[in-house]
Amino acid sequence: MLRLALYVVIIAALAIGAVWLADNPGEVSINWRGYVIELSVIWLALIVFMLMVATAAVSRLWRWIRKGYREQRKMARYEKGLDELGWGLGALMANDGARARRHADSFARLVGDVPLSHILQGQSALLLEDHEGAKQHFQALETDKRTKPLALRGLLEIAEDTGDTEAIYALSEQAQTSAPKAGWSQRPFVEAAIALGRWDGAAKALRAAIAQGHLDADEGRRMQAMVSLCRARDADSPDIARRHVNEALKFDPGLVPAAVLAAKLAHEKKRYRRAQRILKHAWVQGPHPDLVEAFVSLRAKESAAQSYKRVNQMVGSDDPQPETLYAQAVYALRAGLTGPARGHLRAMAELLPQQRTYQLLADVELAAGDAQAAQTAKDRMATAMPDPVWHCTSCGQEHFSWQITCADCSEFASVVWAPLKRKAPLVALPPELADQSADEEADDDEVMLLTDEAEEPKPPEKP
Ligand SMILES: [Zn+2]
Repeated sequence: MLRLALYVVIIAALAIGAVWLADNPGEVSINWRGYVIELSVIWLALIVFMLMVATAAVSRLWRWIRKGYREQRKMARYEKGLDELGWGLGALMANDGARARRHADSFARLVGDVPLSHILQGQSALLLEDHEGAKQHFQALETDKRTKPLALRGLLEIAEDTGDTEAIYALSEQAQTSAPKAGWSQRPFVEAAIALGRWDGAAKALRAAIAQGHLDADEGRRMQAMVSLCRARDADSPDIARRHVNEALKFDPGLVPAAVLAAKLAHEKKRYRRAQRILKHAWVQGPHPDLVEAFVSLRAKESAAQSYKRVNQMVGSDDPQPETLYAQAVYALRAGLTGPARGHLRAMAELLPQQRTYQLLADVELAAGDAQAAQTAKDRMATAMPDPVWHCTSCGQEHFSWQITCADCSEFASVVWAPLKRKAPLVALPPELADQSADEEADDDEVMLLTDEAEEPKPPEKP
Protein backbone atom coordinates (compact mmCIF):
# COMPACT_ATOMS: atom_id res chain seq x y z
CA MET A 1 0.00 0.00 0.00
CA LEU A 2 2.83 2.37 0.93
CA ARG A 3 4.75 1.37 -2.17
CA LEU A 4 1.70 2.03 -4.40
CA ALA A 5 1.34 5.50 -2.90
CA LEU A 6 5.03 6.13 -3.56
CA TYR A 7 4.64 5.11 -7.23
CA VAL A 8 1.64 7.42 -7.62
CA VAL A 9 3.61 10.31 -6.11
CA ILE A 10 6.61 9.65 -8.42
CA ILE A 11 4.44 9.39 -11.57
CA ALA A 12 2.62 12.55 -10.55
CA ALA A 13 5.95 14.36 -10.03
CA LEU A 14 7.22 13.16 -13.45
CA ALA A 15 4.01 14.26 -15.16
CA ILE A 16 4.18 17.68 -13.49
CA GLY A 17 7.89 17.94 -14.48
CA ALA A 18 7.09 17.00 -18.13
CA VAL A 19 4.23 19.51 -18.33
CA TRP A 20 6.46 22.20 -16.78
CA LEU A 21 9.23 21.43 -19.30
CA ALA A 22 6.74 21.58 -22.23
CA ASP A 23 5.58 24.96 -20.97
CA ASN A 24 9.16 26.21 -20.49
CA PRO A 25 11.16 24.81 -23.42
CA GLY A 26 14.84 25.60 -23.28
CA GLU A 27 18.09 24.48 -24.90
CA VAL A 28 21.33 22.99 -23.59
CA SER A 29 24.56 23.37 -25.44
CA ILE A 30 27.57 21.19 -24.65
CA ASN A 31 30.94 22.25 -26.01
CA TRP A 32 33.69 19.72 -25.43
CA ARG A 33 37.07 20.13 -27.25
CA GLY A 34 35.46 21.69 -30.30
CA TYR A 35 32.50 19.30 -30.50
CA VAL A 36 29.23 21.15 -30.02
CA ILE A 37 26.08 19.27 -29.05
CA GLU A 38 22.85 21.15 -28.85
CA LEU A 39 19.88 19.53 -27.19
CA SER A 40 16.49 20.52 -25.99
CA VAL A 41 16.00 20.14 -22.22
CA ILE A 42 13.37 17.41 -22.79
CA TRP A 43 15.86 15.32 -24.72
CA LEU A 44 18.50 15.82 -22.09
CA ALA A 45 16.08 14.71 -19.40
CA LEU A 46 15.20 11.63 -21.49
CA ILE A 47 18.86 10.72 -22.02
CA VAL A 48 19.65 11.13 -18.30
CA PHE A 49 16.66 8.94 -17.42
CA MET A 50 17.70 6.20 -19.86
CA LEU A 51 21.28 6.30 -18.54
CA MET A 52 19.96 5.81 -15.02
CA VAL A 53 17.86 2.83 -16.11
CA ALA A 54 20.85 1.27 -17.92
CA THR A 55 23.14 1.74 -14.89
CA ALA A 56 20.60 0.09 -12.61
CA ALA A 57 20.26 -2.86 -15.01
CA VAL A 58 24.04 -3.34 -15.28
CA SER A 59 24.50 -3.19 -11.50
CA ARG A 60 21.75 -5.74 -11.00
CA LEU A 61 23.33 -8.06 -13.56
CA TRP A 62 26.68 -7.72 -11.79
CA ARG A 63 25.13 -8.57 -8.46
CA TRP A 64 23.42 -11.61 -9.97
CA ILE A 65 26.67 -12.89 -11.44
CA ARG A 66 28.52 -12.36 -8.13
CA LYS A 67 25.77 -14.07 -6.15
CA GLY A 68 25.87 -17.06 -8.47
CA TYR A 69 29.62 -17.29 -8.01
CA ARG A 70 29.30 -17.07 -4.22
CA GLU A 71 26.58 -19.72 -4.18
CA GLN A 72 28.75 -21.97 -6.25
CA ARG A 73 31.70 -21.52 -3.90
CA LYS A 74 29.44 -22.10 -0.91
CA MET A 75 28.14 -25.32 -2.42
CA ALA A 76 31.69 -26.46 -3.08
CA ARG A 77 32.60 -25.74 0.56
CA TYR A 78 29.53 -27.66 1.74
CA GLU A 79 30.50 -30.61 -0.39
CA LYS A 80 34.01 -30.59 1.03
CA GLY A 81 32.48 -30.16 4.51
CA LEU A 82 30.29 -33.24 4.04
CA ASP A 83 33.36 -35.17 3.07
CA GLU A 84 35.12 -34.04 6.28
CA LEU A 85 31.99 -34.93 8.27
CA GLY A 86 32.08 -38.46 6.90
CA TRP A 87 35.75 -38.86 7.79
CA GLY A 88 35.18 -37.32 11.21
CA LEU A 89 32.31 -39.65 12.06
CA GLY A 90 34.37 -42.62 10.89
CA ALA A 91 37.26 -41.54 13.14
CA LEU A 92 34.85 -41.15 16.08
CA MET A 93 33.57 -44.68 15.55
CA ALA A 94 37.17 -45.88 15.40
CA ASN A 95 37.90 -44.12 18.72
CA ASP A 96 40.62 -42.09 17.02
CA GLY A 97 40.24 -38.77 18.85
CA ALA A 98 43.10 -36.91 17.17
CA ARG A 99 41.93 -37.74 13.65
CA ALA A 100 38.30 -37.01 14.57
CA ARG A 101 39.32 -33.58 15.88
CA ARG A 102 41.25 -32.75 12.68
CA HIS A 103 38.23 -33.54 10.51
CA ALA A 104 35.85 -31.82 12.95
CA ASP A 105 37.93 -28.62 12.79
CA SER A 106 38.03 -28.75 8.96
CA PHE A 107 34.28 -29.30 8.89
CA ALA A 108 33.70 -26.30 11.18
CA ARG A 109 36.01 -24.13 9.04
CA LEU A 110 34.19 -25.10 5.85
CA VAL A 111 30.61 -25.10 7.08
CA GLY A 112 30.73 -22.58 9.90
CA ASP A 113 29.18 -22.31 13.34
CA VAL A 114 26.40 -24.89 12.92
CA PRO A 115 25.18 -27.39 15.57
CA LEU A 116 26.71 -30.30 13.66
CA SER A 117 30.21 -28.82 13.90
CA HIS A 118 29.82 -28.39 17.69
CA ILE A 119 28.60 -31.99 17.98
CA LEU A 120 31.58 -33.31 16.04
CA GLN A 121 34.11 -31.10 17.82
CA GLY A 122 32.59 -31.82 21.24
CA GLN A 123 32.63 -35.59 20.70
CA SER A 124 36.21 -35.62 19.47
CA ALA A 125 37.32 -33.46 22.43
CA LEU A 126 35.55 -35.93 24.71
CA LEU A 127 37.46 -38.78 23.11
CA LEU A 128 40.72 -36.93 23.74
CA GLU A 129 39.64 -36.31 27.36
CA ASP A 130 39.82 -32.57 26.69
CA HIS A 131 36.97 -31.87 29.10
CA GLU A 132 37.20 -28.07 28.90
CA GLY A 133 37.15 -28.08 25.10
CA ALA A 134 34.26 -30.55 24.98
CA LYS A 135 32.34 -28.52 27.57
CA GLN A 136 32.49 -25.36 25.43
CA HIS A 137 31.06 -27.13 22.40
CA PHE A 138 28.27 -28.86 24.33
CA GLN A 139 27.38 -25.64 26.13
CA ALA A 140 27.00 -23.99 22.71
CA LEU A 141 24.37 -26.65 21.91
CA GLU A 142 22.55 -26.29 25.22
CA THR A 143 20.49 -23.22 24.35
CA ASP A 144 19.00 -24.78 21.20
CA LYS A 145 15.88 -26.79 22.02
CA ARG A 146 16.62 -29.23 19.19
CA THR A 147 20.10 -30.10 20.39
CA LYS A 148 19.60 -29.74 24.15
CA PRO A 149 19.35 -33.51 24.87
CA LEU A 150 22.59 -34.03 22.97
CA ALA A 151 24.28 -31.23 24.90
CA LEU A 152 23.08 -32.67 28.20
CA ARG A 153 24.37 -36.11 27.31
CA GLY A 154 27.79 -34.73 26.42
CA LEU A 155 27.97 -32.59 29.56
CA LEU A 156 26.80 -35.53 31.66
CA GLU A 157 29.56 -37.67 30.26
CA ILE A 158 32.10 -34.97 31.20
CA ALA A 159 30.66 -34.71 34.72
CA GLU A 160 30.90 -38.50 35.08
CA ASP A 161 34.49 -38.50 33.84
CA THR A 162 35.46 -35.78 36.31
CA GLY A 163 33.40 -37.29 39.15
CA ASP A 164 31.37 -34.09 39.67
CA THR A 165 28.35 -35.55 41.48
CA GLU A 166 26.50 -32.23 41.84
CA ALA A 167 26.77 -31.66 38.09
CA ILE A 168 25.68 -35.25 37.37
CA TYR A 169 22.60 -34.72 39.51
CA ALA A 170 21.68 -31.36 37.91
CA LEU A 171 22.29 -32.50 34.32
CA SER A 172 20.52 -35.84 34.60
CA GLU A 173 17.59 -34.14 36.31
CA GLN A 174 17.34 -31.71 33.37
CA ALA A 175 17.60 -34.63 30.95
CA GLN A 176 14.63 -36.27 32.68
CA THR A 177 12.54 -33.29 31.57
CA SER A 178 13.96 -32.56 28.14
CA ALA A 179 14.39 -36.20 27.07
CA PRO A 180 12.11 -38.26 29.35
CA LYS A 181 12.25 -41.34 27.12
CA ALA A 182 16.05 -41.53 27.13
CA GLY A 183 17.36 -44.17 29.50
CA TRP A 184 20.93 -42.88 29.72
CA SER A 185 20.15 -40.21 32.30
CA GLN A 186 18.28 -42.46 34.72
CA ARG A 187 21.02 -44.49 36.33
CA PRO A 188 23.34 -41.47 36.77
CA PHE A 189 20.41 -39.57 38.27
CA VAL A 190 19.66 -42.34 40.75
CA GLU A 191 23.32 -42.81 41.64
CA ALA A 192 24.02 -39.07 42.05
CA ALA A 193 20.86 -38.63 44.14
CA ILE A 194 21.99 -41.51 46.37
CA ALA A 195 25.57 -40.23 46.62
CA LEU A 196 24.22 -36.82 47.67
CA GLY A 197 21.63 -38.35 49.99
CA ARG A 198 18.75 -36.81 48.01
CA TRP A 199 16.37 -39.69 48.56
CA ASP A 200 13.30 -37.96 47.11
CA GLY A 201 15.11 -37.46 43.81
CA ALA A 202 16.33 -41.06 43.84
CA ALA A 203 12.85 -42.43 44.52
CA LYS A 204 11.42 -40.29 41.71
CA ALA A 205 14.11 -41.41 39.27
CA LEU A 206 13.55 -45.09 40.13
CA ARG A 207 9.80 -44.78 39.63
CA ALA A 208 10.38 -43.17 36.22
CA ALA A 209 12.96 -45.77 35.20
CA ILE A 210 10.62 -48.66 36.07
CA ALA A 211 7.59 -47.00 34.42
CA GLN A 212 9.52 -46.49 31.19
CA GLY A 213 10.92 -49.99 31.19
CA HIS A 214 14.55 -48.88 31.55
CA LEU A 215 14.90 -50.92 34.71
CA ASP A 216 13.78 -54.49 35.28
CA ALA A 217 10.79 -54.40 37.66
CA ASP A 218 12.32 -56.79 40.25
CA GLU A 219 15.67 -55.03 40.20
CA GLY A 220 13.86 -51.69 40.40
CA ARG A 221 11.86 -52.75 43.45
CA ARG A 222 15.02 -53.97 45.16
CA MET A 223 16.58 -50.55 44.58
CA GLN A 224 13.42 -48.75 45.70
CA ALA A 225 13.54 -50.74 48.94
CA MET A 226 17.11 -49.61 49.56
CA VAL A 227 16.27 -45.97 48.91
CA SER A 228 13.25 -46.18 51.23
CA LEU A 229 15.48 -47.71 53.90
CA CYS A 230 17.91 -44.79 53.58
CA ARG A 231 15.01 -42.35 53.81
CA ALA A 232 13.94 -44.11 57.00
CA ARG A 233 17.46 -43.96 58.44
CA ASP A 234 17.68 -40.22 57.72
CA ALA A 235 14.14 -39.44 58.90
CA ASP A 236 13.65 -36.71 61.52
CA SER A 237 11.00 -38.55 63.50
CA PRO A 238 10.30 -42.22 64.34
CA ASP A 239 6.90 -41.96 62.65
CA ILE A 240 8.41 -40.89 59.31
CA ALA A 241 11.11 -43.53 59.70
CA ARG A 242 8.44 -46.16 60.34
CA ARG A 243 6.52 -45.15 57.21
CA HIS A 244 9.61 -45.35 55.00
CA VAL A 245 10.91 -48.60 56.43
CA ASN A 246 7.51 -50.23 55.96
CA GLU A 247 7.57 -49.00 52.39
CA ALA A 248 11.04 -50.56 52.02
CA LEU A 249 9.72 -53.92 53.22
CA LYS A 250 6.79 -53.71 50.82
CA PHE A 251 9.28 -53.34 47.97
CA ASP A 252 11.62 -56.03 49.28
CA PRO A 253 10.46 -58.03 52.33
CA GLY A 254 13.86 -59.75 52.48
CA LEU A 255 15.99 -56.61 52.87
CA VAL A 256 17.73 -57.57 56.12
CA PRO A 257 18.70 -54.11 57.49
CA ALA A 258 15.17 -52.84 56.71
CA ALA A 259 13.57 -55.73 58.61
CA VAL A 260 15.90 -55.17 61.57
CA LEU A 261 15.10 -51.44 61.66
CA ALA A 262 11.36 -52.03 61.20
CA ALA A 263 11.38 -54.54 64.10
CA LYS A 264 13.30 -52.10 66.30
CA LEU A 265 10.83 -49.29 65.54
CA ALA A 266 7.84 -51.57 66.13
CA HIS A 267 9.37 -52.71 69.41
CA GLU A 268 9.81 -49.10 70.51
CA LYS A 269 6.07 -48.68 70.01
CA LYS A 270 5.57 -51.81 72.18
CA ARG A 271 4.30 -53.67 69.13
CA TYR A 272 6.18 -56.82 70.05
CA ARG A 273 4.15 -59.24 67.91
CA ARG A 274 4.52 -57.09 64.84
CA ALA A 275 8.29 -56.90 65.36
CA GLN A 276 8.45 -60.71 65.57
CA ARG A 277 6.31 -61.10 62.47
CA ILE A 278 8.54 -58.76 60.43
CA LEU A 279 11.68 -60.67 61.39
CA LYS A 280 10.15 -64.09 60.75
CA HIS A 281 8.85 -62.97 57.37
CA ALA A 282 12.27 -61.57 56.40
CA TRP A 283 13.89 -64.84 57.54
CA VAL A 284 11.68 -66.80 55.15
CA GLN A 285 12.70 -64.48 52.30
CA GLY A 286 16.40 -64.81 53.07
CA PRO A 287 17.90 -66.04 56.35
CA HIS A 288 20.54 -63.86 57.95
CA PRO A 289 22.15 -63.94 61.43
CA ASP A 290 21.19 -60.26 62.05
CA LEU A 291 17.51 -61.25 61.91
CA VAL A 292 17.98 -63.85 64.66
CA GLU A 293 19.98 -61.41 66.75
CA ALA A 294 17.25 -58.75 66.39
CA PHE A 295 14.66 -61.39 67.27
CA VAL A 296 16.50 -62.39 70.43
CA SER A 297 17.09 -58.78 71.48
CA LEU A 298 13.31 -58.16 71.50
CA ARG A 299 13.35 -59.84 74.93
CA ALA A 300 16.39 -58.47 76.67
CA LYS A 301 15.62 -60.04 80.03
CA GLU A 302 15.18 -63.67 79.02
CA SER A 303 17.75 -66.37 79.83
CA ALA A 304 20.04 -67.95 77.21
CA ALA A 305 17.99 -71.14 77.38
CA GLN A 306 14.81 -69.20 76.73
CA SER A 307 16.49 -67.44 73.81
CA TYR A 308 17.50 -70.79 72.32
CA LYS A 309 13.93 -72.01 72.63
CA ARG A 310 12.59 -68.90 70.91
CA VAL A 311 15.21 -69.08 68.15
CA ASN A 312 14.07 -72.65 67.48
CA GLN A 313 10.51 -71.37 67.23
CA MET A 314 11.59 -68.63 64.84
CA VAL A 315 13.84 -70.53 62.45
CA GLY A 316 12.82 -74.14 63.01
CA SER A 317 11.41 -75.99 60.04
CA ASP A 318 11.02 -79.55 58.77
CA ASP A 319 13.59 -78.87 56.11
CA PRO A 320 16.45 -77.12 57.92
CA GLN A 321 18.76 -74.90 55.87
CA PRO A 322 22.45 -74.28 56.72
CA GLU A 323 21.69 -70.79 58.05
CA THR A 324 18.94 -72.22 60.28
CA LEU A 325 21.22 -74.89 61.72
CA TYR A 326 23.97 -72.36 62.31
CA ALA A 327 21.61 -70.00 64.18
CA GLN A 328 20.35 -72.90 66.31
CA ALA A 329 23.92 -73.99 67.09
CA VAL A 330 24.98 -70.45 68.09
CA TYR A 331 22.14 -70.09 70.61
CA ALA A 332 22.43 -73.68 71.85
CA LEU A 333 26.08 -73.00 72.69
CA ARG A 334 25.18 -69.72 74.41
CA ALA A 335 22.74 -71.70 76.54
CA GLY A 336 25.54 -74.18 77.34
CA LEU A 337 23.79 -76.96 75.42
CA THR A 338 26.84 -78.45 73.72
CA GLY A 339 25.03 -81.65 72.66
CA PRO A 340 22.31 -79.99 70.57
CA ALA A 341 24.85 -77.41 69.28
CA ARG A 342 27.11 -80.23 68.03
CA GLY A 343 24.09 -81.92 66.43
CA HIS A 344 23.09 -78.79 64.53
CA LEU A 345 26.64 -78.17 63.32
CA ARG A 346 27.14 -81.75 62.15
CA ALA A 347 23.87 -81.50 60.20
CA MET A 348 25.10 -78.22 58.74
CA ALA A 349 28.48 -79.72 57.79
CA GLU A 350 26.66 -82.33 55.73
CA LEU A 351 24.67 -79.68 53.86
CA LEU A 352 27.21 -76.88 53.58
CA PRO A 353 30.55 -77.26 55.37
CA GLN A 354 31.63 -73.65 55.80
CA GLN A 355 34.56 -72.31 57.80
CA ARG A 356 32.26 -70.89 60.47
CA THR A 357 30.69 -74.36 60.87
CA TYR A 358 33.99 -75.82 62.03
CA GLN A 359 35.00 -72.70 63.94
CA LEU A 360 31.82 -72.94 65.99
CA LEU A 361 32.19 -76.71 66.30
CA ALA A 362 35.67 -76.16 67.73
CA ASP A 363 34.17 -73.73 70.26
CA VAL A 364 31.50 -76.31 71.14
CA GLU A 365 34.10 -79.03 71.64
CA LEU A 366 36.20 -76.75 73.81
CA ALA A 367 33.13 -75.91 75.89
CA ALA A 368 32.48 -79.65 76.19
CA GLY A 369 36.10 -80.10 77.36
CA ASP A 370 37.32 -82.11 74.35
CA ALA A 371 40.48 -80.31 73.14
CA GLN A 372 41.35 -82.98 70.56
CA ALA A 373 37.93 -82.80 68.89
CA ALA A 374 38.27 -79.02 68.91
CA GLN A 375 41.61 -79.29 67.10
CA THR A 376 40.15 -81.72 64.54
CA ALA A 377 37.33 -79.24 63.85
CA LYS A 378 39.85 -76.39 63.45
CA ASP A 379 41.90 -78.45 61.00
CA ARG A 380 38.83 -78.91 58.88
CA MET A 381 38.34 -75.18 58.57
CA ALA A 382 41.13 -74.95 56.04
CA THR A 383 39.36 -77.09 53.48
CA ALA A 384 35.88 -75.78 54.24
CA MET A 385 33.84 -73.50 52.02
CA PRO A 386 34.03 -69.74 52.52
CA ASP A 387 31.60 -68.03 54.88
CA PRO A 388 28.94 -65.63 53.69
CA VAL A 389 29.90 -61.99 54.22
CA TRP A 390 28.60 -58.59 53.17
CA HIS A 391 30.64 -57.80 50.11
CA CYS A 392 30.56 -55.77 46.94
CA THR A 393 29.81 -57.75 43.79
CA SER A 394 31.50 -55.05 41.76
CA CYS A 395 34.94 -54.74 43.40
CA GLY A 396 34.87 -57.71 45.80
CA GLN A 397 35.54 -55.59 48.91
CA GLU A 398 34.24 -57.06 52.18
CA HIS A 399 32.07 -54.84 54.37
CA PHE A 400 31.23 -55.08 58.04
CA SER A 401 27.56 -54.27 57.38
CA TRP A 402 25.17 -53.57 54.53
CA GLN A 403 25.56 -50.27 52.72
CA ILE A 404 23.62 -48.74 49.84
CA THR A 405 26.77 -47.92 47.86
CA CYS A 406 30.08 -49.70 48.20
CA ALA A 407 32.41 -47.49 50.25
CA ASP A 408 35.29 -48.72 48.14
CA CYS A 409 34.09 -48.44 44.53
CA SER A 410 30.91 -46.35 45.08
CA GLU A 411 28.82 -48.85 43.11
CA PHE A 412 25.13 -48.61 43.95
CA ALA A 413 23.16 -51.64 45.22
CA SER A 414 26.18 -53.91 44.86
CA VAL A 415 26.63 -55.02 48.49
CA VAL A 416 25.20 -58.51 49.06
CA TRP A 417 25.30 -61.19 51.74
CA ALA A 418 26.91 -64.22 50.16
CA PRO A 419 30.11 -66.28 50.28
CA LEU A 420 32.99 -64.33 48.80
CA LYS A 421 34.51 -66.04 45.78
CA ARG A 422 38.20 -66.32 46.53
CA LYS A 423 40.77 -66.15 43.80
CA ALA A 424 42.78 -69.15 45.01
CA PRO A 425 41.47 -72.22 46.84
CA LEU A 426 42.15 -72.08 50.54
CA VAL A 427 44.38 -75.03 51.34
CA ALA A 428 45.75 -75.85 54.76
CA LEU A 429 49.49 -75.79 54.94
CA PRO A 430 51.71 -76.45 57.97
CA PRO A 431 53.19 -73.17 59.29
CA GLU A 432 56.68 -73.76 57.90
CA LEU A 433 55.28 -74.56 54.43
CA ALA A 434 52.92 -71.60 54.63
CA ASP A 435 55.93 -69.30 55.21
CA GLN A 436 57.74 -70.87 52.29
CA SER A 437 54.66 -70.44 50.13
CA ALA A 438 54.51 -66.74 51.07
CA ASP A 439 58.14 -66.36 50.00
CA GLU A 440 57.37 -68.08 46.72
CA GLU A 441 54.48 -65.72 46.16
CA ALA A 442 56.83 -62.79 46.67
CA ASP A 443 59.24 -64.36 44.20
CA ASP A 444 56.39 -64.80 41.75
CA ASP A 445 55.64 -61.08 42.03
CA GLU A 446 59.23 -60.29 41.21
CA VAL A 447 59.21 -62.64 38.24
CA MET A 448 56.01 -61.02 37.03
CA LEU A 449 57.54 -57.57 37.27
CA LEU A 450 60.59 -58.71 35.36
CA THR A 451 58.43 -60.32 32.67
CA ASP A 452 56.40 -57.14 32.41
CA GLU A 453 59.54 -55.17 31.84
CA ALA A 454 60.89 -57.65 29.38
CA GLU A 455 57.66 -57.50 27.43
CA GLU A 456 57.70 -53.71 27.11
CA PRO A 457 56.76 -52.84 23.54
CA LYS A 458 59.90 -52.08 21.56
CA PRO A 459 60.01 -49.31 18.95
CA PRO A 460 59.64 -50.72 15.44
CA GLU A 461 62.98 -51.48 13.85
CA LYS A 462 63.91 -49.43 10.87
CA PRO A 463 64.50 -51.42 7.70
ZN1 LIG B 1 32.72 -52.09 45.53
